[in-house]
Amino acid sequence: METVILAVLIAVVVLGAVGGLVVSGRKKKQLPPPPPAAPVTPPVTAPPAEPQVGEEAETPREEARRTIEEVGLPTAEAEAPVEVAEPEAPVAPAVEVPEPTAGRLVRLRARLSRSQTSLGKGLLTLLSRERLDDETWEEIEDTLLTADVGVAPTQELVDRLRERVKVLGTRTPEDLRLLLREELLALIGTDADRSVHTANGIGNGGDEIPGVVLVVGVNGTGKTTTTGKLARVLVADGKSVVLGAADTFRAAAADQLQTWGERVGARTVRGPEGGDPASIAYDAVKEGIAETADVVLIDTAGRLHTKTGLMDELGKVKRVVEKHGPVGEVLLVLDATTGQNGLVQARVFAEVVDITGVVLTKLDGTAKGGIIVAVQRELGVPVKLVGLGEGADDLAPFEPEAFVDALIGD
Ligand code: GDP
Repeated sequence: METVILAVLIAVVVLGAVGGLVVSGRKKKQLPPPPPAAPVTPPVTAPPAEPQVGEEAETPREEARRTIEEVGLPTAEAEAPVEVAEPEAPVAPAVEVPEPTAGRLVRLRARLSRSQTSLGKGLLTLLSRERLDDETWEEIEDTLLTADVGVAPTQELVDRLRERVKVLGTRTPEDLRLLLREELLALIGTDADRSVHTANGIGNGGDEIPGVVLVVGVNGTGKTTTTGKLARVLVADGKSVVLGAADTFRAAAADQLQTWGERVGARTVRGPEGGDPASIAYDAVKEGIAETADVVLIDTAGRLHTKTGLMDELGKVKRVVEKHGPVGEVLLVLDATTGQNGLVQARVFAEVVDITGVVLTKLDGTAKGGIIVAVQRELGVPVKLVGLGEGADDLAPFEPEAFVDALIGD
């Protein structure tokens, strides 16, 4: 008996459901357009048979249908507005709005402190020891050397700290933190001009030309990525940018750069693979002048094993660009994880072109933040930007205070 009742019930339910579907299908064709509040548009526009939409697409569609039925809504013309809405659906390849650059280092601070704890916190712990004997001072020295601060700056810092700790007498943790903060800042330098020089120059014809930035460095350091990120920094600061893909040595570099450019609406000037980098650089500046762009960023190729070739090539790129007018900035990209090797690279590049600023990449992946001190000493030019990740906006203007605070906490 129960079974019969159950069977009848199931039959009723199934019939009802089928009927409902049919009715709802028909209703779609007959009813007037929905009031604005009806949440039908997005779900119904989803192509019904998209396999990848899977469960997620079906649920909203069913929801929409339910809503239509519940609210007693139409569908005949409901489909019309839905289709009209379709043009909204294809998302235009929108030009991204990069994050503002102010305070980026503070935003990325967590990454910095994670990777640099052994330096800052290690030093603080050692300085807080009850007895600061020779052994402890040696450990402090080792900590600095391990972080790639370099021999001479390490010695200077340890001497200064020894002297000041002696004068201090009792050492509260706060005293020590402030003292270390001051000394690290003195070592890094707070009065250097760390802005990337992108102001317009006066061209050889007497007219204004875009600011020209050459980005140099060994392939693999993150040079192309940095050029792309820098374009975003400049766009975020309201400047228009033209990119020059003069790294014709690495096959994918031009495509990579162009993709970065497209994301922020910057045109990329490129040439054939293996083509003459200097002529691409020349054309890029020419394009920048024609577009009255604010800045032209030129990505160059770097390969140390053919030092002479590199010298010739880079020197030529710069000379050829200078036929238009001055190059405002030559940024050397160094990978912070390469330690002493990075310093060797810095030396070689400095022989080739006048480096005016350094970009240290991959600081998120190393505890060797001391390289900032070492490389500034080596080249006598400031670190201007730091790379703190692979994200598009993970390039930050270098601010010594924010950096030191991330190291030792504030
Ligand atoms: P190029 O040969 O010097 O032009 O090198 P690329 O620009 O292609 O970069 C090499 C790799 O380094 C890529 O995988 C980048 O995503 C990565 N990279 C660049 N900068 C950073 C950074 O600041 N942090 C991290 N973690 N990776 C980076």
